[in-house]
Parts: sequence; C-alpha cells; structure tokens
Amino acid sequence: PDVAAKIAAGEVVERPASVVKELIENSIDAGATQIRVDLMNGGLQLIRVTDNGSGISPEELPLALERHATSKVTSIDDLEQIRSLGFRGEALASIAAVAEVTLVSRARGSEQGSQVSAQNGHISDVTPAASPEGTTITVRNLFSAVPARLKFLKSRNTEISHCHHLLEQYALAYPEIRFTVASEGKQIFSTPGDGKLFSVLVQVYGLQIAEQMVEVDGDDEHDASDGEYPIVKGFVSRPACYKSTRQHISFFVNRRWVMSRMLTTAVEGAYHSLLLSGRHPLAVINIQIDPSFLDVNVHPAKTEIRFLKERRVFAAILRAARKALLQEQE
Ligand code: ADP
Ligand code: MG
Repeated sequence: PDVAAKIAAGEVVERPASVVKELIENSIDAGATQIRVDLMNGGLQLIRVTDNGSGISPEELPLALERHATSKVTSIDDLEQIRSLGFRGEALASIAAVAEVTLVSRARGSEQGSQVSAQNGHISDVTPAASPEGTTITVRNLFSAVPARLKFLKSRNTEISHCHHLLEQYALAYPEIRFTVASEGKQIFSTPGDGKLFSVLVQVYGLQIAEQMVEVDGDDEHDASDGEYPIVKGFVSRPACYKSTRQHISFFVNRRWVMSRMLTTAVEGAYHSLLLSGRHPLAVINIQIDPSFLDVNVHPAKTEIRFLKERRVFAAILRAARKALLQEQE
C-alpha cells in the first residue's frame, strides 16, 4: 500500500479493537440480527466477523474495499441526516492497507455467494464462493507490515479486553442483536438478542449487579417528537450498589457509542443533587436526538461527540437520572 493509504489507515486502525469496531458497525448498518466475532492472538493473527445482514452483491464486492466507496451516503445533503454508523467509505480500505482482508458475502435473496480479497493494497478478482446469506470478513496478520504499530500494542490479553469491552458496549446499544464473541475458539461473551437491555446488563455485569440497577425513562414534559429535546433512556445503579469497584457509565447517542465528560458529569450530578453517594455509579444511557443537533464533523472513528445545544442535553440527562433515583427512594 502507498504511504498515503497507510497514514489514512493509522487514523482509523489503531489496534485490533478499532478493526472490530468498524466491522461490527458495518454489520449493524447491514441490518444484522446476529453478529459473531472470532479473535486469534488478540486479533493480531485473525479477526473474523460474521453477520446475517443484507450482504453484498458480487458487483459491489470490490467497491467495498475501495477508498471513499460507501453505499450509505449518496449526496452531501445526506451528511446532515446520517443514520448509519458508517458514511465515509474508508474503514475497509484502511484495514486492507494494514492487513490481509477477505470478504465473503451473499446478498439477501441471491442464489450465489462471492468472495474478494485484498493484500498489500491489491484487490483480487471476485470469485464465486459458498456463503450463507450475510457477510463474513476475515482480517489476518494485522500490522504485520507495520512493525512500528505493532510495538505500541500491549499484551494479547490487553487487546482481547479492549475488544471485549467494545463488544459489551455495542451489545448494550443493540439488545436486539445476538452477539457471540470467541477468543482462540472459546466463547468469552454472548447476548441473547431478545431486545431487552436488562438481558444484556446481566451478561455484562452479572445478575446481582443488574438487579441493582433502576430504569431510566426520560419521557419528560417535552413532546417526544420534538427533536430539539433528547429522549433519555437506560439504567443507573442504585446508590447502595457498592458491588462495583469502578465507575462505569456508557453513553450512546442515536445508538452510537460515545464518550463525553459532559455526559458523565450530568449523571454524577443526579446522584449529588439527591445527596446520594455517587461513588462508582454504573449506568447505561441511551440518548436519542435529531441528528441535525449533532456535529457530524467529529472523526467517525473517534468516540467524541459534540452537541449543538449542549446544556439542553445535560439538563435532560440529569433530570431523567434523578427521576429514576428518586422513584427508587420512595
Ligand atoms: P462505510 O461504512 O463508511 O460505508 P466501509 O469501508 O466501512 O465504509 O464499508 C464500505 C462499504 O462496504 C459499505 O458502504 C457497505 O456497502 C459495504 N459493507 C461493508 N461491510 C458490510 C457488511 N457487513 N454487510 C453489508 N455490506 C457491507
Ligand atoms: Mg463502515
């Protein structure tokens, strides 16, 4: 791959978990209800994501690996209303610049599957291949041609735990998707895909802690159809839930996993406003907001987010979390 491709790849692909993120976002965008992730040697030897999504037709298969080829956004106006997780058409091309990638796919309703692969920036011809409906992407020998990057990576277990944590977050955001994750062929995480956030909480935190969480349902005074005001839903831990030894608050904005100091402060504020010990709260907060109130120019591979009406979002979260905790006290 040329230097420019490698530099661009560096922005998207930092470690195995970044590859996993891009691949499962594609599976989610393809409407998958089952996603399986296999890792070998912490993802460095192999990352394989198998989904039962819409699949890719043979004509589109080589395009998927090309830079700036996206099937999700067709005009610049679309950018304002992005609903899919991906939209730049960069991820697969970037991954292919630093690993060997094989794509096997069968489009929904189509008779025959097909396959394409990329190695050293060279995209192979498309050939017929047996495949169930959906897509399987295999990424091998990540960074083997980028020793400088390899040196930055931590132990295999650290890379596995990054992947594991990431998958937990996506499972929390998509309770209707059945996730299965295996490392060295051994299952390390799975969710039932029954659509219930509680079921995922049980898998992520264990039944004991999950039962110590209260539901947040921020149907407030504002008309829910008024996109200016965010809808806030999720779970927060009861103040007496001392089982957790570290704070863990997950945020999803329009089902995209994000990190934000502002959002964390809002949840902590709910505990403090009730004079509760907000030590080590656990929370999962889903925020739904009209995308035109988001700044989409933040790099999609990063989990930062910017709201155009930040104080409104802050207030909505504080109010919803506070309401949940208050009801719990009664
Ligand atoms: P983006 O997600 O930004 O469009 P990607 O490089 O991640 O760009 O993917 C390129 C294209 O490949 C997508 O637009 C989509 O058409 C196709 N694609 C990738 N993964 C899948 C998948 N799992 N199922 C169906 N189509 C896929
Ligand atoms: Mg993508």
